Amino acid sequence: MLPEYKSLKGKVAVVTGGSGVLCREMAKTLAAQGMKVAILNRNVESGQEIADDIKSGDGTAIAVSCDVLDKESVKAAYDTVKRELGDCSLLINGAGGNHPDAITDKEIYEAGDISDEAVKSFFDLESGGFDHVFRLNIMGTLIPTQIFAKEMTETGGTVINISSMSAPSPMTKVPAYSAAKSGIENLTKWLAVHFAEAGIRVNAIAPGFFLTEQNRNLLLNKDGSYSERAGKIINHTPQRRFGEPEDLLGTLLFLSDDSMSKFITGITIPVDGGFMAYSGV
Ligand code: NAD
Repeated sequence: MLPEYKSLKGKVAVVTGGSGVLCREMAKTLAAQGMKVAILNRNVESGQEIADDIKSGDGTAIAVSCDVLDKESVKAAYDTVKRELGDCSLLINGAGGNHPDAITDKEIYEAGDISDEAVKSFFDLESGGFDHVFRLNIMGTLIPTQIFAKEMTETGGTVINISSMSAPSPMTKVPAYSAAKSGIENLTKWLAVHFAEAGIRVNAIAPGFFLTEQNRNLLLNKDGSYSERAGKIINHTPQRRFGEPEDLLGTLLFLSDDSMSKFITGITIPVDGGFMAYSGV
């Protein structure tokens, strides 16, 4: 049971990708703290399910159709949020992810891979896959921040971005995702500095390894057992388990609530069961 964070009550939170596996729990937790929550998703039906769930528990939530890569779509979502809920004081940039066209088959390049048609090597990756991942993670954070943080320059506010354990030390196979999330941590610092005097705090959460839709194929075999890669992750995670979405919520509330973290801006907090601290030996 999480404590009550009174300074959040009645304020408006916008969660992009708010029907995703991790961010839906964030949306529900912010609503349980008395925030009015807008769930922005490309697919409004999936956002509506989360909003209905929140409303059935007496919370306030709306689902808004929004493509975070399309400025006009984000502006339209902004207008809806402003009209229905009021000024946004917390933005969670949750929409993000990877793409199969930006993943190599092998962890380490081996002689002959370049000419082996059965192996998707680094040289076979299409720039379109990279482009998709860079755009989704970087532009998909930049555009909502440009639109929702504008009024925060008058009122103050908080932005929380989502990084990954692949940012400080890139995971094998996923070069675009790793580079993009590294970019998120850098952009988080840049924004924090740029908006410090305006009273906007910008931080990030770096989840460790969570078993979700976007990584299911990499972590589970067809029969549901852990893949070799999943085994490696668990072996490298001192707490010896995958994270659960609930593991992120204390950090989310801490970073969201000014009374807890008002002198904290420009940082990324790992929530990773010790993964980053462990050298492997
Ligand atoms: P998810 O795939 O379950 O959710 C992502 C959400 O983003 C989905 O609701 C999707 O509809 C939405 N989305 C995608 N493109 C969009 C667009 N253009 N416009 C609007 N919405 C869009 O992912 P998740 O696992 O909950 O991940 C959430 C965030 O956490 C992502 O940034 C992800 O990279 C990051 N992350 C996840 C893990 C993990 O283990 N799952 C680990 C580290 C970081």
